[in-house]
Amino acid sequence: MEFYIDGQFVKPENQNEIAKFSPVTGQLLYRFPSATKAEAQSAVDSALDAFPVWSSVNSKERSILLLKVFNLIENNRSELEDILMSENGKIISEAKGEVDGVLDQLWYYLGFERKLNGDYVEGDTNTRRIIQARVPYGVVLALTPWNFPAAMVIRKLAPAILSGNTVVLKPSSDTPGSANWIVRKFSEAGFPKGVINFITGSGSTIGDYLVENRKVSLITMTGSTEVGQHIMNKASSNMAKLILELGGKAPFMVWKDADLKNAIDTLIWAKYSNAGQSCIAAERLYVHEDIYGKFLQMFRDASKQITLGSPLKASMGPLINSKAISNTSKILTQAEENGSTISKMGSDTLDREFQKGFFYNPVLVEGAEQSSSIFQEEIFAPVLPAMSVNDEDEMLKLANDSKYGLASYLFTKDIGLGMRISEKIRFGELYLNMPGPESSQGYHTGFRLTGQAGEGSVHGIEEYLHIKNTYIDFSMD
Ligand code: NAP
Repeated sequence: MEFYIDGQFVKPENQNEIAKFSPVTGQLLYRFPSATKAEAQSAVDSALDAFPVWSSVNSKERSILLLKVFNLIENNRSELEDILMSENGKIISEAKGEVDGVLDQLWYYLGFERKLNGDYVEGDTNTRRIIQARVPYGVVLALTPWNFPAAMVIRKLAPAILSGNTVVLKPSSDTPGSANWIVRKFSEAGFPKGVINFITGSGSTIGDYLVENRKVSLITMTGSTEVGQHIMNKASSNMAKLILELGGKAPFMVWKDADLKNAIDTLIWAKYSNAGQSCIAAERLYVHEDIYGKFLQMFRDASKQITLGSPLKASMGPLINSKAISNTSKILTQAEENGSTISKMGSDTLDREFQKGFFYNPVLVEGAEQSSSIFQEEIFAPVLPAMSVNDEDEMLKLANDSKYGLASYLFTKDIGLGMRISEKIRFGELYLNMPGPESSQGYHTGFRLTGQAGEGSVHGIEEYLHIKNTYIDFSMD
C-alpha cells in the first residue's frame, strides 16, 4: 500500500509494518505501512499548500470532480464490495448495501454545489450591513473507523471537499484497504494535488502528532468514545473544530400493542447486521411484560436461523478481530458471574476454512441489572441483554439511562405513546416502527458521550464551514 501525498502515490518509509488478519479466515490478509512523523507532516503541509487555490475554486467545479468520483465508484463497485468482504468480513448483501450508501451520500452532497450561501445582515444604522460568509476551515484531519470503512470515509470527504477544505485521511488500522481504494478514485478523477492526502498507521503511534498539529483546523473522527475523549483533550492545543461521532447503546423498546412481526424483523436487522458492530445496533431490549415471553421466543427462533461462514452464503459476518472476541467473552462471563442467564442461540458449525475466523454466534442475556455493564457498556457483537417493563415512564427512564445517546427504537401502534417518547427521549435518533440506518439527509448526531456535532443533512455540511463577518458602511459621499 502506498501513501498519497501532494498528488503522488509515494513509497512509505516503514512499509509492511502492520499486519492485517482476515476476520473470515483468521489468516494474514496483507501488511501495510505505518507513517512516520515526517510523512504525516508532508501530508498536512500538502493539504495546507493546496488550500488557498482549492478554497477559491467555484463549488460547481468541485462538484464536477466529485461527480467523476461517483461514476468511478459506481462503475467499479464490485471491487470495493470485494474489499469490504475480505478486510471487514461483511456478507455480500451488507457490502453491496454499504456501497449503495457511499453512492447515496456522494449524490446527496453533490446537490449542495452553489447552495452553501452566507447571509446579508442588517447593520446598526441604515447605511451599515454585515456580510456573513460561510468559508471552509482549512486542513481537515479525517479519522475513520473500521465498521463502515467506505461509507465513513465518503461521509467525511464529500462534505469537506465540496465545501472547499483540503483533507488528510487516516483510516482505521483494521480496514485501510477500502480507504486506499477510494483515494485512488479521487486521484483518477483528477483532483488538484494536495486536496486529498492519505496515510496509514496506528492511531496510538501517529494520531497525537496529527491531532496536535497546528496546521490542522478541523478534526472529524468517527470511533470509540474513549479515543474521542483523548482526541478532544489533545485538540485543545490547536483549538481545532471537532466533529466527533462516537459510541452508541441503542435501546430497542417494544410496547404491548406493537406489530410483533415488524418488531422482530427490525430487531434481527438491528442486532445482527454487521454482526452487531454498528453504532446504531440494538444494544439493549425492553419489552412490555404482557408480550415479553412470546416476543423473546420469536427472537430466539429467528436468531437460530443465523448462519455463519462464507460472506457469499452466510447471513451474518464475523467480528473484526480476535480482541473483539475476547472482549465479548469477557462481558458475558461477567454477566454470568452476576447471575444473568446466558442463552447461546446459534447452532451453526463452521466449514474448516472459516474455523479460525472471528465468528461469534448470537447470545441472549436475561436477568441482568440495568446498572450492569452489559446494559451500560457498548457490546459491539451479536449479544443482546433483555428486560421486561410494564410502565411507560419506567421504559423511558431505562432507555434514557445511558452515557451514550445516538439511536433508539420504539415499536407501538399507539401514536400518543410514540409522540410522548419522541419528545422525551434524549437520543439523536428515534426509529419509530421502522429500521435504520440513518439517511444522508438526516442529521446523524448523538447526545452525551456519543460526541459532538454531526454528519449528514444541511447541518452536517455546514459543520465544515466557518462563518466570517465583513462589516460595511456605505454612508460616504
Ligand atoms: P477507534 O478505535 O476509536 O478508532 C477510530 C479512529 O481513530 C481510527 O482511525 C483509529 O486509528 C483512530 N485513532 C485511535 N487512536 C487515535 C489517537 N490517539 N489519535 C488519533 N486517532 C486515533 O474506533 P473503532 O474501533 O475504529 O470504531 C468503533 C467505534 O466507532 C464504536 O464505538 C462505534 O460505536 C463507533 N462508531 C460511531 C459512529 C457514529 O456515527 N456515532 C459510526 C460508526 C462507528 P487506529 O485504527 O489506527 O487505532
